Formats: sequence, C-alpha cells, structure tokens
Amino acid sequence: MKNISIIGSTGSIGTQSLDIVRANKDLKVVALAAGSNDKLLLKQAMEFKPDIIGIWDEDKASELRTALSEFDIRIVSGMDGLIEVASYVKADIVITAIVGMIGIRPTVEAIKAGKDIALANKETLVTAGHIIMPLAKEYNVKILPVDSEHSAIFQCLHGEEDNKISRLLITASGGPFRGKTREELADVTVEDALKHPNWSMGHKITIDSATMVNKGLEVIEARWLFDVKPSDIEVVVQPQSIIHSMVEFEDGAVKAQLGTPDMKLPIQYALYYPERRYLAGDRLDFTKMNGIVIDKPDKDVFKGLEFAYNALEKGGSMPTVFNAANEEAVALFLNRKIKFLEIYDIIEKCMEEHKLIPNPTLEDILNIQKEINECIKSKY
Ligand code: NAD
Ligand code: MG
Repeated sequence: MKNISIIGSTGSIGTQSLDIVRANKDLKVVALAAGSNDKLLLKQAMEFKPDIIGIWDEDKASELRTALSEFDIRIVSGMDGLIEVASYVKADIVITAIVGMIGIRPTVEAIKAGKDIALANKETLVTAGHIIMPLAKEYNVKILPVDSEHSAIFQCLHGEEDNKISRLLITASGGPFRGKTREELADVTVEDALKHPNWSMGHKITIDSATMVNKGLEVIEARWLFDVKPSDIEVVVQPQSIIHSMVEFEDGAVKAQLGTPDMKLPIQYALYYPERRYLAGDRLDFTKMNGIVIDKPDKDVFKGLEFAYNALEKGGSMPTVFNAANEEAVALFLNRKIKFLEIYDIIEKCMEEHKLIPNPTLEDILNIQKEINECIKSKY
C-alpha cells in the first residue's frame, strides 16, 4: 500500500490523481489540501476518508469541521495547514498539484519530512530549483516529474543512467494561437486564450500555454530536473501533442515517448515509478494519423521562451522574477484588467528593473514575489 498526500486536490491534476487512486487498490489517500473549492474537498474527504484535510481559508475550515463532525478527520487551514498536509507522517509520496509559488514552502517541508515528490507544481522548481534539487539529494527523496514533457524525458532516460545526454527536445503544442501574428493577438479575449487545442487544464497553465511562457517555465524545470545546460535544451512545436518530448544521446540516437494527450499517464508513472501499470484510455492509432508534424516555435511573437532563456542566463533570482511577474500578469489578464500582449510587457519590465541576487535564499525568493506582487498591484 502506498500512502499519498495531495496538495491541490480539487484542480485538474489533483482530480486526475484521485482517478488514478480510484483505479488502483494499492493506493491510499491520507491527506488532501485545496485552495477555495470547499464543496469538492468535502466530497473528496467523504469518499477517500483521509486523516487530514487542509483548506486555505480558516472560515471554510471551520465549516468543514461541522460538516465532517462524524468523521475522524483533522481539518487544518492556511500555510501551516498546507505544510501539515504536505509533511504528514503517514504519507510516502506527495503530489504537488497546487498552482504557483505558494507550493514552495510545502514542497520544501515535504522533502525535509522524507517524502518523495510527484511534482506537477513547476513554479516551485523554476524559482527554487537550486534549493529543491540539493535538498532532495540530502534527504534522499525522489523528485518524480508529473509535467508530461518531463515525464516523457524521465521515461526515455530510464536505463540510460550512465549515458550522456546531448540534447533534450521539449515538445510544445503551440497553444491556441499558433501561427498568429502580434497584430492578431492584440485583442484576443480570455475565452479565446482558454481554448487549448489538446489539453484541458487549470486556467493559469492554459494562459501560460497560449503565451508559451509555460514552455519557458518547462525549459527551466528541465534544467533542474535533468541537470543539463540551457543551450542543450531545445523546444520544438508538435501541434498534435503526441510526442511528449525526446532525448538525443551522444551517438545521435533520439528516444521519444509518445501517447495520447492524457495527464493520467505521467501521474501514474510518477506514483509507481519505475513500474508500469494498466491505464484505461485511448491508444494511438498510427494508421489514422496523417503524419507527425514537427515545427519551429515562433520566438518573436511568443516571447515566453526568450524570457526563460534570458532568466537562465542571468541565473540567481531572475527565474523567480520571470515566474512571479507572469503569475501576477496572468491573474490580471484572467480578471480582464490587461490585454493579452501586456503579459509580455509586464514580465519584460520586471526582469529589466530587477537587481539580481546571485544565489537567492528561500526568504529572498518569497520577498521578491511579494515585491513584484505589490509593484504590479500598485500599477493596475
Ligand atoms: P488548477 O488551477 O486546476 O488546480 C490548482 C489546485 O491548487 C486547486 O486544487 C486549488 O484549490 C489549489 N490551490 C490553489 N491555491 C491554493 C492555496 N492557497 N492553498 C491550497 N491549495 C491551493 O491547476 P492545474 O492545472 O491542476 O495545475 C496545477 C499545477 O500543475 C501547476 O503548477 C501547473 O503548471 C502544473 N501542471 C498542470 C498540468 C495540467 O494538465 N493541468 C500539466 C502539467 C503541469
Ligand atoms: Mg507540460
């Protein structure tokens, strides 16, 4: 029996993780946490009967205590609650399905408590990869990628531990606006940007896919997960989302992982690594495919990639600035306070104005996030 804790259980990755638990008798949910969806969290608590649940808001926690009074479930709230859920003593593995830099502290505490991490929350690795990866090594815990591209690379690298990687080829779908010019993007709406062609995901990552900031974040995520030089990470567009990513080795051989676009596969792979299990769902039918398309990304229009490579080159606190500015800008766009292209302007300005901290501590990272939040809030 593997005991699982999930932070962000009511979101896209969280609910699909629970589908995996439903389909496998040897997985048990021992702790769950969510942000604001108390109704769904209540349902999940009644179905899975974890020992602890956490909800951000203390008033909602108090209501949940009443609703769940007949169950033996501890109900916690706020950051302390999130940390308690992430580091719960009975959990073997924590799925970090929470969105944004709020995942940093619970992830750090989970590692210190000796939990393996099934990592979906890429923002944590982007901003604190230089802290997370050595910490995981120190505490001898695994960081198992859930992001589909990184899971693909991880699957390709299985059995290749002693071989040298020459390049990582990260695939991008190109999002809903692939092929569009800057002029055409000037007036796109929130609804347009939320129409992802292949994946159904949370709002924030769907907007990140439309700007290709998501791919930028994934380049930085890959740099930390696989310890490769940024110049050895290339992004290619694969609009069908069938090739989930590829690895090129020293001898020129390229390994790829393919499959239908279904996040349950990477989630399940992380939970059972290195074992594979049956997973229900569609299979690829190559006879019905009209070729596999691979294209170059349009880096001039979709500046998310350029920002990421710049942030990696500057290093230190710059990836934090890139990510924190994006989190704020995406929230403004979703709240219809700014236009789509202004997301790029905000990120660019924050990165230009930032005074680099070469080796930021956790405190520095969280302070930068706070400063950026306050700075952007004061302007919009
Ligand atoms: P989502 O918006 O659907 O879900 C986010 C979850 O985080 C929700 O359960 C929400 O309640 C929880 N949350 C937010 N604020 C919280 C708080 N203050 N306290 C506790 N919980 C809080 O997002 P998602 O699409 O599932 O993405 C989650 C993470 O996984 C992101 O980092 C994203 O980049 C990454 N990811 C997602 C996908 C995908 O297919 N959805 C794919 C790859 C990577
Ligand atoms: Mg991805």
